[in-house]
This record gives sequence, structure tokens and C-alpha cells, in this order.
Amino acid sequence: MTDSPYDILFEPVTIGPVTAPNRFYQVPHCTGMGHIHPQSLARHRGIKAEGGWGVVCTEEVEIHPTSDLAPYAEGRLWSDADIAPLALMTSAVHEYGSLAGIELAHNGFHSSNLFSRLTPLAPGAMPVASFNPIYARAMTRKDIADLRRWYVQAAIRAEQAGFDIVYVYAGHCMVTLMHFMQRRYNHRTDEYGGSLENRVRLTKEVLEDVKDAIGDRCAVAFRFAVDELLGKDGIAADDEGFEIVSMLAEIPDLWDVNLSDWSHDSATARFQPIEGYQDNYTAFVKNLTSKPVVGVGRFTSPDAMVKRIRDGHLDFIGAARPSIADPFLPNKIREGRLDEIRECIGCNICVSGDSLGVPMRCTQNPTIGEEWRRGWHPESIAKAAISEHILVVGAGPAGLEAALQLARRGYEVTLAESGTDYGGRLLHESRLPGMSSYIRVRDYRVGLLQQMSNVQMYLNSELTAEQVLQVGADKVLLATGATWRRDGTGRYHQWPLDLSSDHCKVLSPDDIFAGAQVSGHVVIFDDDHYYMGGVMAELLVERGCQVTLVTPAPLVSAWTEQTLEQRHIQSHLLNQNVEIQANRVVVSVQDEMLTTQCKFTSRLEQTQCDVLLLITARTPRDTLYNELMMSQKDLNADNLSIELIGDCHAPGTVASAVYAGHKVARNIDSDNEITDSVIREWPRGAVRGVQ
Ligand code: ADP
Ligand code: SF4
Repeated sequence: MTDSPYDILFEPVTIGPVTAPNRFYQVPHCTGMGHIHPQSLARHRGIKAEGGWGVVCTEEVEIHPTSDLAPYAEGRLWSDADIAPLALMTSAVHEYGSLAGIELAHNGFHSSNLFSRLTPLAPGAMPVASFNPIYARAMTRKDIADLRRWYVQAAIRAEQAGFDIVYVYAGHCMVTLMHFMQRRYNHRTDEYGGSLENRVRLTKEVLEDVKDAIGDRCAVAFRFAVDELLGKDGIAADDEGFEIVSMLAEIPDLWDVNLSDWSHDSATARFQPIEGYQDNYTAFVKNLTSKPVVGVGRFTSPDAMVKRIRDGHLDFIGAARPSIADPFLPNKIREGRLDEIRECIGCNICVSGDSLGVPMRCTQNPTIGEEWRRGWHPESIAKAAISEHILVVGAGPAGLEAALQLARRGYEVTLAESGTDYGGRLLHESRLPGMSSYIRVRDYRVGLLQQMSNVQMYLNSELTAEQVLQVGADKVLLATGATWRRDGTGRYHQWPLDLSSDHCKVLSPDDIFAGAQVSGHVVIFDDDHYYMGGVMAELLVERGCQVTLVTPAPLVSAWTEQTLEQRHIQSHLLNQNVEIQANRVVVSVQDEMLTTQCKFTSRLEQTQCDVLLLITARTPRDTLYNELMMSQKDLNADNLSIELIGDCHAPGTVASAVYAGHKVARNIDSDNEITDSVIREWPRGAVRGVQ
């Protein structure tokens, strides 16, 4: 090994009977693939091992049909039949000398058992955690004995599937073992309820059972949320969290510690901008145990990682999102290729795959979830069969990603951007409150493009159709973006509103980006439902405006439920005195009075309004494309291939634009039918649920 300040990260670490080759630990994380897409999952995890992660874990894996998380695609180990699909993953991970870990979960009243239709289980009788009209029943002594047996059975099956590390999971407020430990859920009067010792009893028994069953061959890890951020109402690191770690300190072979609920653990950069944001809660654990400790905190910089090891805070650098954004993060650190690291931006688009039950996606890494079904690898891409010159117009996320991947393929690339800087929408949006990490999407790509000899990049170059044709490229990709509408048309209103008023300014986010002066009472009409409405409200409060947010949705920034942010956004805005008018729409403006309407009753109300900020829908910026289509005919340039990508094709998330840029670069020399089809996993045969 070379003499590098990061050598310490590459030391092997023993975990019970097994040894991890280094300190890079991909902690369990959901993928939206789970038991439904085992081959996709195996390839996804195998690539992490290839990229240098010394330990690669599954998502939560249901151990029994009473823990059925359908319709979400989590792991499943209900019977022997589930061993073979999981073994695909362990083989893929072992191929690169890494350890494979499995997070065994029993989800109690967090699961509604919609597929199995079994009654959910909980410490006491109670409704399930979702709004499903389903109740869990109080676990009897027999249920407790069954749960212990299911854990042992699942652990034995996990070993048979080839796992090296088997988890007992008590985190995120999602699992029975944690529910038993939590005062607010456990009101039992037997030896499993009451005192903390009694509430911890079931977890201790399960840990000991699993150790007895497989502990001489597999490491037994314990994933525990040391703090729920609820003060004395929940488990807290300076109270019961501390005591629980003290009680169980030497039982597991490894402690995997974090925060609960999931939105605190996987906090977005908007609410937890700092790397290592869990330190204050988890740092105590290593003082109480001699066993290795893994913790997370969106670690992407090797110096921050080394510090955690040297300070005696962690033995392993845990990562979920940084390993998704860059599966090759460890190898890049080892090889000193730090400028090639694709840093996670903390947006939680990856989480939305899990929340929506589809293979996950990532803003920074467009290959995620596509490793098997499209054969995409995050670090390799086929060389171009023939040498061609590609012109990319527009340097937002779509244009930058397309240019980078085309250049990696060996094409000669010209990138023309009309603005004074690269980044497109990222330039504006990253200046909004809490959004600064988005600029990493640009920085990673521009940094690499500027080092490539086959790329010419031009700023201040607003190309006309004639100029595009004069470049003489073999192919043209238009990534010219989109503009926000200023006429009220969006999801709710299908045609423009009458918004003519001499007293009320009507603006779109583009006007704010262009420096429009805003003061007084601002009404935001948010029919977009992702982050823009909430972020604009925050910005305008910072600028001293009185802000009312009107939305046809029942919640502010409703789609951010998929990214674990909604609750945090709404409480933040309410704490900033933003008035929220949910289930209402804007209908007209006259003088300085705005009329809104209840979506259900059609009742009208009037609100004073100096500025109406419309965040409704975006329109593709396709003028250049239309001009090109006209001039192509005139100039006899019919053979030139011209393609729209990203927001100018169909406006979407930054993740979609990056994906579009990546896809076109991979497929520029293939036909469309191939590029639009993916390999699907196909179920075979039948199997009984429990054996
Ligand atoms: P996407 O998300 O699809 O990448 P963006 O809106 O972020 O879209 O970026 C589009 C970029 O294209 C912007 O930076 C914009 O300035 C640039 N652009 C638009 N029209 C032209 C043009 N005619 N010539 C060069 N650049 C353009
Ligand atoms: Fe990070 Fe966002 Fe990618 Fe998730 S989607 S890994 S949060 S960049």
C-alpha cells in the first residue's frame, strides 16, 4: 500500500468470526428492488463490492409473512425458497472479496400485511403506523416465542444464502424489537414491559438466540437508533439510548448506530447540510463497547472519514447514499482520484424509488437501478464504434452529463452554453435556501470535462439554428432546458387565468432568478408540489415578505413525502409564519385582491396580494429545435440527427435530466427500439410462503 493519509481507511477490521477487508461499510439501505428484482439487486450490490466497499448489506429483509411490507419492494426471507435469490447477491459481493450483510427485520405494526393479510403484531393492540384501516394485535407469549424462532430460522437461512454478517434490527421506529423498547408503544405488564430492562428483554433474547444459532460462523450485527429526536418521549442518546447500549454492549459483534425516524437518519442536505451530522448522538457508543462501531452521516470526503476513525468515534465509515451516488468511492480514495468522486447531494431522490415501489434512481448517479436491466456500469461505458463530432447545446444537468459520457466514449464533443457559467437550472436553484449541495451535480461534471482533450466548451454562446448547422457536427443534442409558465396553467388549471392587474405583480421563479424585486404580501400558488414552492416561500420570508402559500394539494410540497422531507418543510414554513392555504386554487386577480377557491366546495375568498408568484408548470425551451427543423429543410441538412434531451424534451427533476443525458450518450449509436426496452425479471413457478 502507498503511503497515503487515507491508508487507515483501508485497514482490515475483524467483526466476530469474519474480517472486513477495509473500513468502507455500505449499511443496509432500500433500493425499491428487494425480493421483486433479485438479479437487479445482485448486480447493484456486486458493483458496490467491485467499487471497494468492504461490507455490502441488503435492505431490510422481512423474516415472516406477519412482517409483510407490500406494496414496498423490500427483501424477503420467509422460507427456504427465498435463499437462492438472496444467494445471487452474496455471490456477487464475494466475487470482489467483500463481506455480505443481511438486515433481518420484523416490522410489527409498521407493516400492514396487505399481501399476506395476516394480523400485524405489536407490543399491545393498536392501529398500524400507516393510515390503513388495520389494527395490530397484542403479542402473546406464544407470539414472542414464535418471533424468536422466526429470527433464528431466518438467520440460519441467511447463513445458507452465504451472508457473513446477520443483523438484528432495532432502528427507525419500524421494527418490533424497537417497539418493545419504546416506552410509548410498550404498555405491557409482563416481563417484557415496564422497566427498561424488561422492554429490552426481547431484543437481548433475539440477539442471544441468533448468536447461538450462527454466531460461530457469521458476525451478528445490531442496528440500533440511539436517539429519536423526541427528547424524553422517545429513546434519547443521553437517556435510554445510552442505557440500552450499556446493557447490550458486548452481545453483538458489531454496533450499527443511527437516528430515528428514517427522515432524521437519512436527513436531506436541506435540513442537515453538514457531513457527519449524526456525530453528536452516536459518538458515545464506542466508549461503552469493545466491539466495532459503524455510523453514518453522508460521508463523502476522506478527511472527514479519517477523522472519525482517528478520533475513536467509528471503526467503519457507514454509507448508504454516498455509496449510491458513487459506488466506486472507496476505490477512488485509494487510488487518489478524489476529483472523480460523485458526491451525494443529499436530495433523497433515491428514497423516492423505495417510497414508490420502483427501482431507485439517483440525481448524481444515473446508472443506479439500471445495472442489470440496462447493463449500465457507473464507471465504464463502451467506446464509440466510429469517430464522430457531437454538438451539445445547453450546459444544464442534461447537457453536462451527455457531454461527459460522450467524451468518455471517445467522441469529439462541442458544448455551447448561452449563459455566463455552466450549470443551467443548478446555478439558480443551488442559491436558494438549503439547496447549495445541488451545485455538486455541475461541479463534478464540469471538473472532469475541463480535463478532457476531446471536449471544447464555450460560454456566452447562444446558438441560433444557422450557427448550429454551421458547426458541422455529425449529431446535435439540444439540452436547452425549460422555463416556468407565468399564466397559471399547470396541473389544476388547464388554460391560462385572467391575471391582468396594475396593482399586483405576477411572477414566476424565473423572474426571481433574474433578480425581480419583491416586497409586501406575496401569494405563492404552488401547483408543482416538489421543492420549489416551499423553497421560494422560505426565500421570500428571508427577504422580509409576508408569505401565503396556496396549493390545491392537502400538504405543502406534497411530493416531498417521497423524499422524507414533507413534514420538515411544512413545520419549517409554519414556524416562519407562512400562511398555508391547502386545498385551494387561485382563480383571478383584480387590483391588489386575489381570489382563491376551495377545491371541494368552490367557495371563494379574497386575499390581499402585492405579488403573485406562480409555481405551476414548466414549458420546454424548444424554439431552437423548431427553428432547426425549419432551416434543415431550407439548407438541405435533412440527414443531420437532432435530438432533444432533458427539460427541453419534457421538464422533470434534475435526476431525470441527468438520466436523459446519460441515456442518450450510451445509446447515440443504437436504434431507439433497443434503447427503450429493458430486461425484465420474470417470475417462475410457485412457492408456499412459509416452510
Ligand atoms: P436541463 O435540466 O434539461 O439540463 P437546464 O435548464 O438546466 O436544462 O439547462 C439548459 C441550459 O441550456 C441553460 O443553461 C440555458 O442557458 C442553455 N441554453 C438554452 N438555449 C440555448 C441556446 N440556444 N444556445 C446555448 N445554450 C442554450
Ligand atoms: Fe444522494 Fe440524491 Fe443520489 Fe440519493 S439520489 S444518493 S441523496 S445524490
